[in-house]
Amino acid sequence: MPETIENWGRNVRFTPEEVFKPPTEAELLAFLNKHNNPDRSVRALGAKYSWSEVVACNDVLIDLGGLDTGVHVHHEAGGKAWAEIGANGRVKQVLSELDRQGGYTLPAYGILDALSIAGSVATATHGSGRASLAHYVTGVRAAAYDAARNEARIYEWNDGIELQAARCALGCMGLLLSLRFDLEPRFLLEEQLQKCESISEALKKQDEYPLQQFYLVPWSWRWLAQCRRRAEEGRNASWYAGVYRWYRYIVVEVVFHKILTWLTKLPFKKRAAMYALYRWVFPVLTLSFLKKGLKVTDRAERLLTLSHDLFQHLEMELFVPAEHVGDAAEFVKEVLRYCGSKLPKVPSSLREKLEQTGGRPELERLRNSYVHDYLITFRHVLPDETLISMSGGDKGDEKKARYAISLITYDSDHYPFLAVCRFLAVAMAKLFDARPHWGKICPLGAGQLEELYPRLAEFREQCLAVDPKGVFQNEFTRQKLGC
Ligand SMILES: Cc1cc2nc3c(=O)[nH]c(=O)nc-3n(C[C@H](O)[C@H](O)[C@H](O)COP(=O)(O)OP(=O)(O)OC[C@H]3O[C@@H](n4cnc5c(N)ncnc54)[C@H](O)[C@@H]3O)c2cc1C
Repeated sequence: MPETIENWGRNVRFTPEEVFKPPTEAELLAFLNKHNNPDRSVRALGAKYSWSEVVACNDVLIDLGGLDTGVHVHHEAGGKAWAEIGANGRVKQVLSELDRQGGYTLPAYGILDALSIAGSVATATHGSGRASLAHYVTGVRAAAYDAARNEARIYEWNDGIELQAARCALGCMGLLLSLRFDLEPRFLLEEQLQKCESISEALKKQDEYPLQQFYLVPWSWRWLAQCRRRAEEGRNASWYAGVYRWYRYIVVEVVFHKILTWLTKLPFKKRAAMYALYRWVFPVLTLSFLKKGLKVTDRAERLLTLSHDLFQHLEMELFVPAEHVGDAAEFVKEVLRYCGSKLPKVPSSLREKLEQTGGRPELERLRNSYVHDYLITFRHVLPDETLISMSGGDKGDEKKARYAISLITYDSDHYPFLAVCRFLAVAMAKLFDARPHWGKICPLGAGQLEELYPRLAEFREQCLAVDPKGVFQNEFTRQKLGC
């Protein structure tokens, strides 16, 4: 009996006819040969954390959990180390194995360590201050089709355009079996919360704190930077690092998010509630740290990851080139203020931009429709050597660092948020070349995405070479990538 599969965000559901868990690579290849058919769709399942329909498939879903999910560290002369990592391994286990096998870490990862390695790579999952994890993949083993022989085989891509395509491929370059990364020694991170007067002040801290992320606090519209950098050689973890971890878990991850989730359920006065939360409660929760300028030094993976999956939420993230981040932040702020207000007129600060995009009637319809309920996060992402990742795929030498602007709601009524996301994604694509994260809410269609990704056609060619019948495509990839 086919079983319905739901993603973590509970906004995507699908019922594959078959879920296959191959015990060996040979059986996987035999299975792929059986399904080498343009009418069938075969997709791999990661940890189901994507909010987009990137994984959805009503035909065949492959669970690679039966194959090797181990971490194999190799040491080279000169102290260099690299690892071959089973694609379906979870980031948390991978980080702890790398540590155990010689004190290493991954060059980048997202804030949630429950994600699978292959899922993280497939959608170019990122943190702040580095490129996305996909960029650091130095070798890929994948099962896909050999066009000349019309059968499935294992590919190994260690360089060239095939590797660039496979690094962030949304599952379209076949089933990833294992991924290779150059390793870095694990390190201690120093973190400090600092108030900022403006986004310019937050951006100026970038040089001193290259791993920082910063926030626009809704309804108080103040800026807060989580200043982060590698701790100097020889430093130890702070003696109170354990207390800070508990504070963060209990006060921020549990208490704050519990209050927030509860407030989003209020049938009325939501704006007043959010106003009170961010003007009065939130400063109290973070105040002691801000006032004392407390610095915490701890192992990087402990500070860079959060139990962000304790409470259900929905997210869209837009990547804008660094030169546009100030204007983009102002636009987001003004749109969210307007959508959560009863202002009769669109503010003058937005009018000029709306004339360029033609979105004024749509914005007017969104007036008083949605009260934004979560901090807007800004993360700096360095350019990737990929074809279609959100911070990669630029042509020639024009590689651009980007800021990922994240919009999250904890409201279980998704529709008002989705309508605002759609407006912002369309307008910001035109104004700031903003690209939506593939694994989060992605409201744009193929035409708009084609303009944002100059190497999309090259990506499609690479997919065609290893999957001539389009078996690894689904509705999402056809609609978004025009495959
Ligand atoms: C609470 C939360 C926090 C998050 N934090 C971040 C963050 O900090 N930064 C960020 O960038 N993103 C973040 N994300 C988004 C997340 O990183 C991506 O959506 C990621 O793809 C999810 O990984 P997954 O293992 O759940 O993969 P899934 O959602 O299961 O799959 C994602 C894609 O990967 C493909 N895939 C999976 N395994 C394979 C394989 N073996 N071979 C080929 N294709 C495969 C799937 O087919 C699908 O297309 C977060 C999501 C949540 C819910």
